[in-house]
Amino acid sequence: MRPRIGLFRGLRFRLTFSYLLLFSALLVVIGLYFRHNLQVQTEGDVRAVLEEVWGEAKGYLRIENARPLWTADPDDPEDAHIKDRLSLVLLLTDSNGNVLIDSPTYDSIGIDSPDEIRRIMALKEPEVHIRTDAAGTPYIIKAWYMLDDHGQRYFFAIGRSLADSVRTVKTFTRDYFLSLLAIIPLTGLLGWALAGRAIQPVNEVAQAAQKITGSNLSLQIPLRGSGDELDHLIGSFNRMTTRLEDSFEQIRRFSTDVSHELRTPLTAIRGQLEVALFTAETAEQYRDAMVNALEDVEQLSSIVRALLLLSQAESGQLVLQKSSLDLGDVTEDVVDQFQIPAEEKHVRLTARIEPGMKILADRVQIERLFSNLLSNAIKYTPEGGTVQVRVRRDEKQNWARIEIEDTGVGISAENLPHIFDRFYRVRNAETNLIQGLGLGLSFVAWIVKAHGGQIDVTSSVGAGTRFTIHLPAETPTGIAVSEEHPAAVEPQRL
Ligand code: ADP
Repeated sequence: MRPRIGLFRGLRFRLTFSYLLLFSALLVVIGLYFRHNLQVQTEGDVRAVLEEVWGEAKGYLRIENARPLWTADPDDPEDAHIKDRLSLVLLLTDSNGNVLIDSPTYDSIGIDSPDEIRRIMALKEPEVHIRTDAAGTPYIIKAWYMLDDHGQRYFFAIGRSLADSVRTVKTFTRDYFLSLLAIIPLTGLLGWALAGRAIQPVNEVAQAAQKITGSNLSLQIPLRGSGDELDHLIGSFNRMTTRLEDSFEQIRRFSTDVSHELRTPLTAIRGQLEVALFTAETAEQYRDAMVNALEDVEQLSSIVRALLLLSQAESGQLVLQKSSLDLGDVTEDVVDQFQIPAEEKHVRLTARIEPGMKILADRVQIERLFSNLLSNAIKYTPEGGTVQVRVRRDEKQNWARIEIEDTGVGISAENLPHIFDRFYRVRNAETNLIQGLGLGLSFVAWIVKAHGGQIDVTSSVGAGTRFTIHLPAETPTGIAVSEEHPAAVEPQRL
């Protein structure tokens, strides 16, 4: 089922909305830009005509004895036209503001005051300004002075209506913005459809992801093959589910293993107690049953102890107490401790140790590492075999190299990758009789990793096994870190 996402919170809405907002803003800016251009251009045309008329005025209007005189030939149609053009918006006054010619249009704009007239006549060049009449129609006016035959100055102003320009701009503005009212909703619809298309794959991925549950983590979301960000996301998601599946599988296996390992001694204890309860008659028989049960209880507690330690280690609760250790000394101590069990098993245990090798490590854990590996080596080596421990500095790098090699039963290539897993035990005729929990190597792997080292194993069935551990050696300046030995615990196949 698809979860309900509020319309306004949905990605589709937000995408469409942002796109629409941006697009509308862009259209408005473009509209305003063209409107301004149109205004400048149409006004420019009117100004050009005004300049033309201003020039013609000089040739067609003269002032004689304070009276205006038209020099245009009334019979010449062109002259008559020019005179009409001039007279449309025209004002001629003397320097005191007494009107000589005044067109009705100029009247409606408002005749300039005597002060205004004197101000303009005193200017060094004509003044051009815009004024509106009572009806709100704008006029562009050019005003200055005109000389009569005696060099006397008269105020002279002519104008042109900007009504056409205003009308053109208004029409453009109205049509453009009205069309936006249709374009913007249409764009919105288009945007909605496009956003829907863009989001469709995301919804498909979400639907596919919803089918994945704890019990079918192996399901993968099919890649779309477009190589885009979404494919990248699907890839990451698939890798995540694979990792989750591995973890789930590990947990599942772990719970099964734990219950299995605990059930065996529990069943044995129960059997012994039942037998004692129903068949034992003497105190001696009760005692035997209790001793047997106690042994199994002991095994139970050692499993629980080992599990607790391992889980503490893996959850980071076990804090390493690192100090500078002489690796040779530690190795010698542990090897000495294992001499007796080795002799009992008739296995020759030898050690070749390069002296003076220092590491920064937790002594208890390093001893535990040696103990686990040595006890395994002795355990899985038949009588007459040998176990060799070698400790030396790695030739190329400043690493301490520890090798524990036995001539034991060996591990097959098929089992080798799993020996570091919790509770993993190789099951075959030789190993079935040997007791173990399958937890020792998991702990060894953790110790090596926690010290920034690497563990490798090579083995050959019937010939023997060699564990090689690299730990960073301590130098006078610090711990060696090498790129060639990353902190990995992957076992190496034969
Ligand atoms: P266990 O308690 O069973 O020894 P480990 O985790 O220490 O558990 O080892 C896991 C398995 O790896 C063992 O059950 C054994 O089959 C195999 N193994 C470990 N060390 C050796 C070795 N030196 N020679 C042969 N097999 C080994």
